[in-house]
Amino acid sequence: MALVNENYLKLPESYLFSEIARRVKVYKEEHPEANIIRMGIGDVTLPLPKAVISALHDAVEEMGTKEGFRGYGPEQGYEFLRKTIVENEFKSKGINIKEDEIFVSDGAKSDTGNIGDILGKNNIIAVTDPVYPVYVDTNVMAGRAGELVEGKWSEMVYLPCTKENGFVPALPQSKVDVVYLCYPNNPTGTTLTREEMKVWVDWALKNDVLILFDAAYEAFISEDDVPHSIYEIEGADKCAIEFRSFSKTAGFTGLRCGYTVVPHAVTAKKENGERVELNRLWNRRQCTKFNGTAYIIQRAAEAVYSDEGKAQVREMLSYYMQNAKVMKAALEEAGYEVFGGINAPYLWMKTPAGYTSWEFFDKLLTELNIVGTPGVGFGPSGEGYFRLTAFGDKDQTVEAMERIKRGTL
Ligand code: PLP
Repeated sequence: MALVNENYLKLPESYLFSEIARRVKVYKEEHPEANIIRMGIGDVTLPLPKAVISALHDAVEEMGTKEGFRGYGPEQGYEFLRKTIVENEFKSKGINIKEDEIFVSDGAKSDTGNIGDILGKNNIIAVTDPVYPVYVDTNVMAGRAGELVEGKWSEMVYLPCTKENGFVPALPQSKVDVVYLCYPNNPTGTTLTREEMKVWVDWALKNDVLILFDAAYEAFISEDDVPHSIYEIEGADKCAIEFRSFSKTAGFTGLRCGYTVVPHAVTAKKENGERVELNRLWNRRQCTKFNGTAYIIQRAAEAVYSDEGKAQVREMLSYYMQNAKVMKAALEEAGYEVFGGINAPYLWMKTPAGYTSWEFFDKLLTELNIVGTPGVGFGPSGEGYFRLTAFGDKDQTVEAMERIKRGTL
């Protein structure tokens, strides 16, 4: 008899986006003429950079020749890409990360989800609240979360991030073994300064905590005192694993490519106290369960770092960040309290007094035909907040903001 992993049964149905879709569908059926502007999506909308398309074409042609054909590639990623990543993302910024500390993958969702494979079941896990749900759900699947009680998992530690603490989580007051940090943050769009990140790294070193740092949005950073990588902070190479993605940086949400940095110096303990390199375990995990990212996709990712690719990516990022700027200005003009949107493509707004996240969702949908994401969907501390994304079309974004400023359709 096959037994199921009962931890999966503890997970509530993924309610947030299906409930949004349901409410929009009902409204649309009642108002077929409505011009609904969707600002809830976390997906990019611009086409891929030309340099990427050209690299894809070349790689496809190569695969059709006897000499150029490639079968299984290295599980860790091709050397040409690992090398290019090290040069462009780390070496050029004075960060000492080596090629064999880079693991190319099909994206940060898989890696942030799979990293738990190499961690013991009894770790106490901390997450910021609100949070990218993958960190929580994958720990539920692994049996590390306990039971769901009033929106919180009993054995996880929640670190509230609200306007009261400037969206900077306080250090945990109880014992924690692993903490997920994501900066720039999804959903709040806020960041940690170098000084604030140093507090976390120092605390992790002192208390023997592993930081799982998600830098999926680092490319959107515009301010100087916001680190692009946790390894900009001294000592982080001894306590942090970093996740990166080409998804939002270069429009790869459909192509799928990311990478994880596991420095050799990062270790965790066996029950007997002996320390083990996590690089070795992650390498073993990937070699056993993952057969590498497609060659053509890795060539496409490499092209992101060509001069042409860099210029095209810059243009793409500035398109989205111009949307964010327009949104922030309009929302503030309309009297809303808005956070994020400076170093990230997300704006996190306070719902008006008296409105829960979902009530505000309904108000925006029915009065202005704008769809966003209720903050409570990202965790209990998201109640009373609302997320809008800057990934939409420029004209539609402007139109949505005009509606918000007018307060009518
Ligand atoms: N990490 C965060 C914080 C995200 O918001 C997302 C996507 O929305 C991901 C990771 C997933 O990235 P990828 O497309 O590389 O799987």
